[in-house]
Amino acid sequence: MLKDCAWEVIAAAFDKARARQPDLKEMLDLYEKMVKQQHDATVNVDHSSFDEALLLDRSRRGEPLLPREEFHIDLASAGALFRNLCRLVQDREGSVHVAAQEIESALESEALDLRDLLRGTVAEEGYPFAVADRLALDPELLNTLAVTSIRPSVQACAKSVGTLVENERWLRAICPLCGSEPKFAELRGEDLAASKYLHCGFCGWAWPARRLACHFCDNKDHNRLQTFIIENHLQCKLEVCDVCRRYLKVVDNKEFFGLIPEIEVLITPHLDLAAMGRGYH
Ligand SMILES: [Zn+2]
Ligand SMILES: [Zn+2]
Repeated sequence: MLKDCAWEVIAAAFDKARARQPDLKEMLDLYEKMVKQQHDATVNVDHSSFDEALLLDRSRRGEPLLPREEFHIDLASAGALFRNLCRLVQDREGSVHVAAQEIESALESEALDLRDLLRGTVAEEGYPFAVADRLALDPELLNTLAVTSIRPSVQACAKSVGTLVENERWLRAICPLCGSEPKFAELRGEDLAASKYLHCGFCGWAWPARRLACHFCDNKDHNRLQTFIIENHLQCKLEVCDVCRRYLKVVDNKEFFGLIPEIEVLITPHLDLAAMGRGYH
């Protein structure tokens, strides 16, 4: 998780990405500033009210520990982060500048209820899209700002209950902590048989992937599972499934030890474009 990394290490990853993809410099600069804001955020989340017996009981029954609507977030911290991020985006030029200004105006006029937006974003994936639709705001930008703002709280919460997760016994492809889908995978370890971990798109938890199958539809037909290497980018590959047409980025921390998977995935937007260009989502 981001807080576990020193800022210098994260900044070095961005420097490397800019050197490798100079045409993405402007986007990477913005991402770096956004990640710095997240990294600097301090959150104060009350973990004492979790019912440990209930969580352990769910774990025993093979259910995720904490459904996303039960996560606690520091609304003051997430709200301040949202405003800071919105201002950062306004420093850019073009349509995104206007879109960020409109979001700030909606906040000032109180048409946009920030606490409701942040709580809704925790409870329900895609909630910001419904809010944006109602208020005629840019849906992608509102979603990015909201999701990025709650992340420090969500990750702190995941960390505090993470000791109760039984990673080694978990056999499903959803997150054992919160039940969300994986966002990306990581190869770890120094053995010949690298261990593959899936990373949760919501809470950031990582758990071992058990089987050689698509993590979304469980397709095991190897003729319909492929790995793509794009532009000789070996640190991060694409695994795709020709049954459900989903793709997953796989960060190779086995061959290229020391990568920060969460950052590696963020600084490779060209790989997402390549996957989408081939008809995967
Ligand atoms: Zn999770
Ligand atoms: Zn699939």
